[in-house]
Amino acid sequence: MTDCIFCNIIAGEIPSCKVYEDQEVLAFLDISQTTPGHTLVIPKEHVRNILDMSESTASVLFSRVPKIARAVQKAMDAPAMNIINNNEPIAGQTVFHAHVHLVPRYSENDGINITYSVHEPDFNILGKMAEQIAQEVRA
Ligand code: 5GP
Ligand code: ZN
Repeated sequence: MTDCIFCNIIAGEIPSCKVYEDQEVLAFLDISQTTPGHTLVIPKEHVRNILDMSESTASVLFSRVPKIARAVQKAMDAPAMNIINNNEPIAGQTVFHAHVHLVPRYSENDGINITYSVHEPDFNILGKMAEQIAQEVRA
């Protein structure tokens, strides 16, 4: 056993309900079942979150997401889905092995509220922010 729950799930030391597995990726039902079919997709490589992830691990992980998401959607007959990822505790990360949540949605009134508030933008500030980020991406 390691101190990472998801590494223990990968190793089969903690039971899980698997929905997909290959050499590099595992998907299994989230224990919380925010909505029926709530699934987690994880890289088998232990990495804390996307902020720590290499491009190659991200390529592997995200390449599997559409296929698994469509399978969840079809099996669960879900008209919609939120695909969510939390990085670091302030953003709601509680398990520190990277994972992507697939949350099937069945109704707008299911009590799940994922909204982004709209602010009147100051394009001067936005422009400076974009330039700072762009510089970091190039660095
Ligand atoms: P986070 O809050 O880090 O984005 O998401 C962690 C998720 O892992 C939560 O939705 C939680 O329900 C799920 N989880 C935590 N422990 C276990 C476990 O032992 N088994 C499974 N299947 N899911 C777990
Ligand atoms: Zn791990």
